[in-house]
Amino acid sequence: MNPQTETQQVRVLFGPGLRESVASEVRRLGASRVLVLATPQQCDAASEIAGRLGSLAAGVFCKAAMHTPVEITKLALDHVRETNTDCLIAIGGGSTTGLGKAIAWHTDLPQIVIPTTYAGSEATPILGQTENGIKTTLSDPKVLPEVILYDPELVVSLPVAMTVTSALNAMAHAAEALYAKDRTPETDALARKGLEALVGGLPAVLKNPGHLAAREATQRGAWACGTVLGRVGMALHHKLCHTLGGSFDLPHAETHAVILPHAIAYNARAAAAELQPVCDLLGGSNAGTALHRFARSMNAPLALRDLGLNESDLDEAAELATTKPYPNPQPVTRGDIRALLQAVWAGDPPIE
Ligand code: NAD
Repeated sequence: MNPQTETQQVRVLFGPGLRESVASEVRRLGASRVLVLATPQQCDAASEIAGRLGSLAAGVFCKAAMHTPVEITKLALDHVRETNTDCLIAIGGGSTTGLGKAIAWHTDLPQIVIPTTYAGSEATPILGQTENGIKTTLSDPKVLPEVILYDPELVVSLPVAMTVTSALNAMAHAAEALYAKDRTPETDALARKGLEALVGGLPAVLKNPGHLAAREATQRGAWACGTVLGRVGMALHHKLCHTLGGSFDLPHAETHAVILPHAIAYNARAAAAELQPVCDLLGGSNAGTALHRFARSMNAPLALRDLGLNESDLDEAAELATTKPYPNPQPVTRGDIRALLQAVWAGDPPIE
C-alpha cells in the first residue's frame, strides 16, 4: 500500500437548490463572464443557469458530446475567445464535464461543475479526448474543477435506467480502487464510503426518483468514487471499458455496468481480501458474483450483446484489451479475457 496521500483544494458543496447560488460562486472566483456548457439534451438546464447568472453570463454552449471530441473543444475555444469568457460552468454528466476540462486544459480558466449523473469526472484531474476516433487520456491538475455543486434536484430527471448504470459506473471506480497498487488507507476509506453511500441510497432512489435525501446520499457516493478514481490507478475493469467504448463505440455507463461483476470476479481470484468490503456490503463470498446479483436486482443491463456488440467482435476486443494491459492483481491472459468477454456478451453469471 502506498503511504503517501496528495490532495488539492476543491470547493465541494451538497444540497437541494444549490444551483441558485451560482452567481455568488462566480463572484467568489472573481469572475464576471461565464460560459455555461451542456449537451444539446440539457440546453434548457444551461439556459436556466445563464438566467440565474444575469449579467455575469457570457453565453451558453450546448454541443458537449461523449468522449470529448477535439473538434467540439475547438469550436468551444473559439466561443470562449469571442465572448471573452473568464469562467466556465459545466452542467451535466461526464460528457459536459469533459468539455469544461478540455477548455480549462487549453486556457486554465476556472470551472464550476454542476454534475447531473454519478460518473464522477468532476472529482478527477483526468481528461479523456477523442480525435479521429482515437481516445487518449491525460492527467493534469489544471483540469480539476475549482468548485463542484451537487444539487440533488438536478439528478431527479436522470432516467431510472441511467441512474442504475451511472451508479454502477461510480461503484466501478471504488471497487478497482480497493485493489489498486498505489492505494492508501485514505483511498480505501473513500472507496468504502462511496460504495456504502451508493448501495445504501439506490433502493430509495429507485422507489422514488424524487427522494432528495436519497439522491444526495448517492451524489456523496459518486463524489467519493470519483475522488478515488483520480487518486489511484485503475485496472482490468477500466481497461476493458475503455477498449469497448473507444473501439466499438459502446455507451459509457452501460458498458461499465455490464463489465463490472465479471472484471471483479476475475480479480477476486487474486484480491479476495481487498474486495471483502464489497462482500460485506452486498453479501456472499465472491465480490463479482455479489455485484452481479446486485446489478440484476436493480434491473441493470447484464449482457454486452444487448449493448450492440457483435459476437464476432469478441476476438478483436480480447486482443485489444490485452495488448497493453493496465497493472492488474490477477495476471491478464488473452484466453482468460476472451472467456470473460464471452460470458459478459451472453449475460452469463461471472466466472469465479
Ligand atoms: P453523459 O454525460 O454522456 O450523459 C448521457 C446523457 O444523459 C446525455 O445526453 C446527457 O445530457 C443526459 N443527462 C445527464 N444528466 C441528466 C439528467 N440529470 N437528466 C436528464 N438527462 C441527463 O454520461 P456520463 O456517463 O455521465 O458521462 C460519460 C462520459 O464521461 C464519457 O465520455 C466518459 O469517458 C467520461 N468520464 C470521464 C471521467 C474522468 O475522470 N475523466 C470519469 C467518468 C466518466
